[in-house]
Amino acid sequence: MVEVEVQDEEVETFAFQAEIAQLMSLIINTFYSNKEIFLRELISNSSDALDKIRYSSLTDPSALDSKKELEIELIPDADGKKLTILDSGVGMTKADLINNLGTIAKSGTKAFMEALSAGADISMIGQFGVGFYSAYLVADTVRVTSKNNEDEQYIWESSAGGSFTIRVDDGPSIGRGTKIELFMKEDQTEYCEEKKIKEIVKKHSQFIGYPIKLHVEKEREVETAADEEVKDEDEDSDKPKIEEIDENEEKKEEKKETAKEKYTELEELNKTKPIWTRNPDDISNEEYAEFYKSLTNDWEDHLAVKHFSVEGQLEFRALLFLPKRAPFDLFENKKQKNSIKLYVRRVFIMDNCEEIIPEYLNFVKGVVDSEDLPLNISRETLQQSKILKVIRKNLVKKCVELFEELAEDKDNYKTFYEQFGRNIKLGIHEDSNNRTKIAKLLRWKSSFDGGEELTNLTDYVSRMKDGQKDIYFITGESVDIVKNSAFVERVTKRGFEVLYMCEPIDEYCVQQLREFDGKNLVSVTKEGLELPEDEEEKKKFEETKAKFAALSDTMKNILDKKVEKVVVSNRMVSSPCCIVTSQYGWSANMERIMKAQALKDTSTMGYMAAKKHLEINPDHIIVEQLRQKVEADKNDKSVKDLVMLLYETSLLTSGFSLEDPGTHATRIHRMIKLGLGFDGEDDSADQAEEDMPELENDDGEDDSSRMEEVD
Ligand code: ADP
Ligand code: MG
Repeated sequence: MVEVEVQDEEVETFAFQAEIAQLMSLIINTFYSNKEIFLRELISNSSDALDKIRYSSLTDPSALDSKKELEIELIPDADGKKLTILDSGVGMTKADLINNLGTIAKSGTKAFMEALSAGADISMIGQFGVGFYSAYLVADTVRVTSKNNEDEQYIWESSAGGSFTIRVDDGPSIGRGTKIELFMKEDQTEYCEEKKIKEIVKKHSQFIGYPIKLHVEKEREVETAADEEVKDEDEDSDKPKIEEIDENEEKKEEKKETAKEKYTELEELNKTKPIWTRNPDDISNEEYAEFYKSLTNDWEDHLAVKHFSVEGQLEFRALLFLPKRAPFDLFENKKQKNSIKLYVRRVFIMDNCEEIIPEYLNFVKGVVDSEDLPLNISRETLQQSKILKVIRKNLVKKCVELFEELAEDKDNYKTFYEQFGRNIKLGIHEDSNNRTKIAKLLRWKSSFDGGEELTNLTDYVSRMKDGQKDIYFITGESVDIVKNSAFVERVTKRGFEVLYMCEPIDEYCVQQLREFDGKNLVSVTKEGLELPEDEEEKKKFEETKAKFAALSDTMKNILDKKVEKVVVSNRMVSSPCCIVTSQYGWSANMERIMKAQALKDTSTMGYMAAKKHLEINPDHIIVEQLRQKVEADKNDKSVKDLVMLLYETSLLTSGFSLEDPGTHATRIHRMIKLGLGFDGEDDSADQAEEDMPELENDDGEDDSSRMEEVD
C-alpha cells in the first residue's frame, strides 16, 4: 500500500492502486444510464458480509454478541441527498478497509476494463469482483464506516480523484458491520426516494437471504389527551420495529384531541420465502432467472435449471443452474470457487463447500439445503460427512441429467459445449463412475462431414462400416491441420470416419476413455493401425513388404536412432511417408503439448519423447524410385541425403517439430541449387554449408567419411 501523506494524527491518506483509480474514473466519466445496479452490488456485499459473520458464529457463537440481528437497512435521506446502507455483517478492520477498498490489485479490475472496451456493459461489474466501485455511478463521495470484532470502528472515505482517507471513528458505535453513506451526485437524487428504492430492491435483490429493511417516513396522529392505549394489539414482540403494511390497526373509538407526528417505520422489502423451498410448478422462469442473477452476479439469464428434492433416509433440496458463459477466469487459478451455496434448514452455512461437487462441475451454480446436517458444522467435519457424500453423488447425477436434457436441443447444447466442453472432458478424466454417461456428452468434429459440425460417439458408431471394429481419431493442433494429414488420408479413403480431436485436453480425455460401446478408440497416428481388409489384400501387402525390405533396411541404417523402425505401410495415399508413434508412447500432438509445458525441465523430454516409426508408402513414386536406386546400387551415395530429407519432411507433416530446422533448410537449399543446375561447389555458399554434408553427385570422390557425420 502507498501511504501518501499524514495530514494530522487521525486522518491518513492513501493512493488507490493504479488500475482501480483508472476504473473509478471510467465509472465516473462513462455515460451510462442503468445506474441503479449500484444498489444491487452494495446489498450483495452486505449479504456476503452477513454470510461471513454467520459462518464464524457457527463455531464461535460469541461472534454475534456485538449485534444479534443479521440484517440490512436502507436509510434514504431525500433532503440531505444521501442514501445509507447499513449491515450487521462481519465488518472490516482498518487493514481490510485499506486492502479491500483500494490498494490491492484484483485481476478482475483489468479484465473488467478490457471487457468494457470490448463492448461489455457496466452492469457486469459484479462478476469481475469490483462491484463496490459502482457506488461512484451515483455518488460523488462515499463514506464507509465499519466495525469488525477484531478492531476499532474506522471510517474510509473517498471522493475519487485517486485517493481515499482512513480515520478512527469517535462517533456513535454501529455495534458490528458496515455503514455505507452515499452522498449523491446532484442529478442522482432519485435514488434517495423510497419508491425508487423499493422498485430496485424488488427487481434486483428480492432473493437476498437476510431481511432488507427500508426506513420509511410515516406520519401519525397522536392524541394529546391522556389515553395511553394507542397500540396495535397483535404486534409481534420478537420484531417490535417491523410493522405489516396492512391497515388493521384499530384505534380506540373515542376521539380526543390529536396532533400529527412523524415517525420512522422499518418495512421489510424481501419477504419472498427461499425460492428452492417452493414447489417448482409454481415458479416461473423469470423468477428462476432473477434468483440466478442475484445468486451469481451474472447479468444474463441462466441457460438451464434443475430444481429437485431428495427424500428418504436423507433429505435435501437443491437448485442447480448452468450459466450461458464461462466466467473470465474459469481455468485461471486453482482456487476453489464452485458456486454451490450450502444451507442447513434454510440457514446459510457456506459458499465454497469443496466437498459438495467435483471440480470439473465447478461452473454449476446453485444452492443445496440439507435437513440432516448439523447447524454448527465446520469445514473440517464436512470433509468426513457421509451425508455430504450422498448429497454430492446426487448432485453429480442431476448435473449429468441436466446435460443430457440439454443435449436434446442441438443448438442449446452447442452453446453450452463451446463454453464448458472442456469441463465435460475433464469429467471423463476425473469421474470414472460416470464415465460411460459423460462419454455420450462428448462432441468433436469429424471427417464424416469434412470437419463442419460437432458429432458424438453414438452417432459415430451408428455410421460405422460393416467389419469396422474400432473408432478412429486423430489428435492435433487444429481441424485444418489434421484433416489434411496423411494419417487421415488412408483411413478416410477406405471409407472409415475419423474424429478430429484438437484441444490439448483431448489427449488426456482419450487416454482415460479408451473405449465406447465396446469399441476401442484408436489413434490413426499410432503404430500398428490395422484397417480391416480381406485375405487377398493381406497377401498382396505381404508381397509388397518383401519387395521393399531392402529399402526399409537401408533407411533404418541411415536414420539410425532417430527412429525405432522403418516399415512399409498401406495407410497413405498421396504422401511418400509419415511418422507414427508407438502405441503406448506420446503422440506427436502430445509431444508438442509436453514440450510447451516442460520448457523448464528438458531433461525428461529425452526419454519421454514420442517413439517414432517411419512408415513408407510403397505406392508412391518417390519411394518406388528410391527402391530401384537402392536395388541398383546399395551404396548409392545420394540415397543418404534423400532419406534424411524425406524423414525431416515427414516429421513436419506428421505434426512434430524439427530439432534443427537450419540443417533441414540447408539440405533443401542444396536441392534447389541442384534443381537450378549448380552442383553445390558454388563459392558464394554460406557459412553453414561448410559444415553440412554435400549432396552426392557424380564427381564426388570418397565422401563416405564425411557422410558419417551427418546426424
Ligand atoms: P467482491 O464483492 O466481488 O469481493 P467488491 O468490489 O464488491 O468485490 O467488494 C470488495 C471487497 O470489499 C469485498 O470482497 C469485501 O471484502 C469488502 N466489502 C465490501 N463491502 C463490504 C461490507 N458491506 N462488509 C464487509 N466487507 C465489505
Ligand atoms: Mg461485491
